[in-house]
Amino acid sequence: MAEDCLFCRIIAGKIPSKKVFENELVFAFEDINPQAPVHVLIIPKKHVATLNDTDAEFNVYMNAMFGAAREIAAQRGIAEKGYRTVFNVNKDAGQEVFHIHLHILGGRIFKWPPG
Ligand code: 5GP
Ligand code: ZN
Repeated sequence: MAEDCLFCRIIAGKIPSKKVFENELVFAFEDINPQAPVHVLIIPKKHVATLNDTDAEFNVYMNAMFGAAREIAAQRGIAEKGYRTVFNVNKDAGQEVFHIHLHILGGRIFKWPPG
């Protein structure tokens, strides 16, 4: 728990969010500025800034994040139609919040390559 981290404060309930999913390892909530009809953020309950800062020990959280992604995609009815999973890492990718988070985006058609 990092006191100055927005997403740690969301996990702790100090900042309100629209919860989508939670277990002992991860928390998922609606993105405040959705870029698609489905836009959920999945975060680990352990503060790590970016994908670069993870290690093999952290893989239990990565596994839980992808497990939550599968469950949320199924719940939202986008699993078969398709959806996008994104980790933005650092400046060039536009990362704004430095608590690692997996974006789940769906409900519309996405372009490739991304902008
Ligand atoms: P990044 O650009 O770091 O990959 O994504 C950060 C995401 O967090 C953005 O999509 C942004 O809309 C979302 N976000 C930022 N602040 C808040 C907040 O206070 N609440 C929620 N629910 N989402 C937030
Ligand atoms: Zn944090």
